[in-house]
Amino acid sequence: MSRETRSRLVELRRELHAYPEPSWCEFHTTSRVVDELESIGVDRVALGDDALDPAERMGVPDDDELARWREAAAERGARDDVLERAAGGLTGAVAVLERGDGPTVGLRVDIDALRQTEADGDDHAPAAAGFRSENEGVMHACGHDAHTTVGLGTVAAVAESDFAGTLVVFFQPAEEVVGGGRPMAATDHVEGIDHFLAVHVGLDHPTGEVVAGGDEALSVRQMTAEFVGESAHAGAAPQAGRNAMQAVAAATQNLYAIPRHAGGLTRVNVGRADVGSAPNVVAAEGRIELEVRGGTDDLRAYMTTHAERTLDTAARMHDCTVTTETLAVAPREDSDESMVTAVAGAADATPGIESTVRRAPLGVSEDATYLMRAVKQDGGDATFVVLGTDHPGGHHTARFDVDEETIGLGVDVLSTVIRRLGGEETG
Ligand SMILES: [Zn+2]
Repeated sequence: MSRETRSRLVELRRELHAYPEPSWCEFHTTSRVVDELESIGVDRVALGDDALDPAERMGVPDDDELARWREAAAERGARDDVLERAAGGLTGAVAVLERGDGPTVGLRVDIDALRQTEADGDDHAPAAAGFRSENEGVMHACGHDAHTTVGLGTVAAVAESDFAGTLVVFFQPAEEVVGGGRPMAATDHVEGIDHFLAVHVGLDHPTGEVVAGGDEALSVRQMTAEFVGESAHAGAAPQAGRNAMQAVAAATQNLYAIPRHAGGLTRVNVGRADVGSAPNVVAAEGRIELEVRGGTDDLRAYMTTHAERTLDTAARMHDCTVTTETLAVAPREDSDESMVTAVAGAADATPGIESTVRRAPLGVSEDATYLMRAVKQDGGDATFVVLGTDHPGGHHTARFDVDEETIGLGVDVLSTVIRRLGGEETG
């Protein structure tokens, strides 16, 4: 890759970093992606309900929130035609590049940011170099700004090559709420994909390292539980109340007491509670947000069954009722050996890649698994690629940053794999 291309991609990444948008609110980001795709000259860009199935979305914010972000994007110069198609949170895009007879290769990059305040000290490169988040309280703290850039850089590199076949790139919204993979997997864009790559930077792998097959994504279910009791005067008539505070407390304590499973790893977390109203009122209502995970879909199902029973029993213990609602689900899907070999071969041939790891556990959940599963069920093969990057802070923390060297390396590795899959002989 030329020095100019490399520095242009770094510019683009910084621009995206400075304007992070949360899940389903990626209006401006989508508009910028479309600009770039048009200047590359792809054959088709699908948007809105052509890019995803609206009914399959999970974790969509309310209408006011969506409208606020859409308006902010418009003010910042996002294109009307894109905003129109993305209205109501139909963000993201699917780009199709057609280059004659050959296999169809799919690539997925995610584009959303996190609700996290970014560090502002001089020891945080984006702050020191003037591209810290302009959207206070929202931050690209997981590298999806780099993913978007790598996706665009890869399309450009493949467009200029002798690749023969079709390249389909999913610029996926809402990965952070595990909400955008399923609706994209429900479209006909996944049909006929022979080979599929999903990509993530970092995950504790250093710059210059590539994991050809990320495996063992944790199967996950996120849910809410709403407890309803009855309020009462805490001094005069506590016996008249039905205490939602107690139900929430009992549920939380006992969720962590679900027996571990010999079949593999399990996780549980209650990450949020909103309960009660005042010190002298027996709490009438409480709501918690929780998640369970498992090393396999069966282990996740085990955790779900136990969690639901625990919630139910905790409610009854305090004469309350409870209703649960699923926020998001994502399955486990592992990488195929054929694709691991293809990516490892390309990584080995890429200058600057010093370490190629064939397989490593991901240790997190990912909704790219929906796309991987859809491709596999249709007879294709798939892998989850990790592009190592030195990151000063952990993922999802205020000081997370990517080593920008990774952007050029990532484009080189991915475009080499894709060109080789398309029958080209590359060095
Ligand atoms: Zn991420």
